Amino acid sequence: MRVLKFGGTSLADGRRIRHVARLVRRAAKRRRVIVVASAMAGVTDRLCGLIEDAVAARPVDRGVGAVERQHLEALDNLDPTHRWPAVESIRRRIYELRRDLQKIVSFGACPDHIRDRVMATGERLSVTVLTAVLRSFGCPARVVDGSEVVLTDNRFGEARVDHVATRRACAGLRERPTVEVPVVTGFVGADPKGRTTTLGRGGSDFSAALLGAALDAERVEIWTDVDGVLTAPPDIVSEASRISRLSYEEAAELSHFGATVLHPRTVEPLVAGRIPIIVRNTLDPTRPGTEIGPNEPTSPRVVAVSAVPEAKVLSLTPIAERSAAPERSPLVLAPSDEILMACSASSGGSALFVTLEAKAADVAGRLASAANITVTDNGPASLVALVGHNLGSQPWAAGRALEALGRRGLTVRAVAAGSSPHALTILVERDELETVLTTVHDVLGLKGDLGPERPVEVVSSELMIEEALVTEASTQHRRAS
Ligand code: ADP
Ligand code: ASP
Ligand code: MG
Repeated sequence: MRVLKFGGTSLADGRRIRHVARLVRRAAKRRRVIVVASAMAGVTDRLCGLIEDAVAARPVDRGVGAVERQHLEALDNLDPTHRWPAVESIRRRIYELRRDLQKIVSFGACPDHIRDRVMATGERLSVTVLTAVLRSFGCPARVVDGSEVVLTDNRFGEARVDHVATRRACAGLRERPTVEVPVVTGFVGADPKGRTTTLGRGGSDFSAALLGAALDAERVEIWTDVDGVLTAPPDIVSEASRISRLSYEEAAELSHFGATVLHPRTVEPLVAGRIPIIVRNTLDPTRPGTEIGPNEPTSPRVVAVSAVPEAKVLSLTPIAERSAAPERSPLVLAPSDEILMACSASSGGSALFVTLEAKAADVAGRLASAANITVTDNGPASLVALVGHNLGSQPWAAGRALEALGRRGLTVRAVAAGSSPHALTILVERDELETVLTTVHDVLGLKGDLGPERPVEVVSSELMIEEALVTEASTQHRRAS
């Protein structure tokens, strides 16, 4: 059994969704598959904006209308038998969305559980469209809501998963396989009270991994809009190239340090079962992609550079006078999943740490109120990470990178070894990020494919051809009648 996850760009419009449906239909002919879908491109951001509008009592009608239209248009040309139930289901969801937004307007604030329900709307709409298209293509499919199979706590927005309960909840999918392909909403879970939760932005990859682990899948395929995991963020470094194989640790470090191609928690559930992840390009399924798995490289290497462009530097200083007894570093008070880089211990006992700009105000506020420390905002910065197996044991990499930056007059604000031996982080000025990344990528020789090629299943070019949906739908229709 394989889990196939399709991201928002793979589901950008009706044409892409039909292409995805062909990929799924083909895969389902060969073996059991479970599909995990993100929201259509741009929809989750739009929902976020609608929440902000509702809180500020700004009108939301146009925004809601645009979300509805995007999904209805994706159903255009579908035969009426498959179209109408989907249209009805979309209208119902849109009605619920409007009702939630009205509640937000009347509260003048957005309660966390309503925020997650609104945010989950994108996935709940996209699976409706994808399932209808699959059925119209003669591939039986059914919607499975993430809240039925991914069980979490109630930390809305970043819910933590109860793996044992999730495995139990997935038993139905495992023990009663039907001919229908389950199409699961990514990103979405439920708390013990059954309320909708979400797994953090980009969390559909994590949903796919959770299902892969719970169902002991043979592999998890992440279908996206690039050829695989690349040696650098392609929107910043145009020469970024595909990496053939990565270890779990390398992939985890890369995604932790900003490689959005994988949600940072994706590898976690798959390590114990040694289940591989294959990252593949929906737009070109003939490409081999990147395999992430228990494959330990035999020697140390640098495999990629990644970046967190919008980072913030905070310094923490204890308010109390230093006594003879050693002070505890204020760093122990910082929440571990919000620290991207930490440099501790000046003579005054202060510490410096780097966090995501979006979370900085929140983190600073919580720290200042929880302890006797002053939190100073040291301004914006960007974080660059060098990632590779056992990077720590090959000092030439850091040396070469820093030397090249120095030669070009680029500022290095701080350097720290990652807490794993597979990453090293460099704090740089934000307006120099692009030059820093390109310089480091270049000097470390990351251009060109890395690692041996793996044979892949050849995907027929038939999949690449966008057949007219009308033809396909009407054939199915005739067959069915
Ligand atoms: P999806 O909608 O499929 O989930 P995402 O936008 O979340 O897609 O992730 C894919 C994007 O990740 C790519 O388009 C690319 O711009 C970005 N990205 C950043 N770093 C990397 C990297 N190292 N390798 C591949 N893609 C990367
Ligand atoms: N739709 C969600 C987001 O945009 C989850 C995902 O795409 O993985 O963050
Ligand atoms: Mg993503």
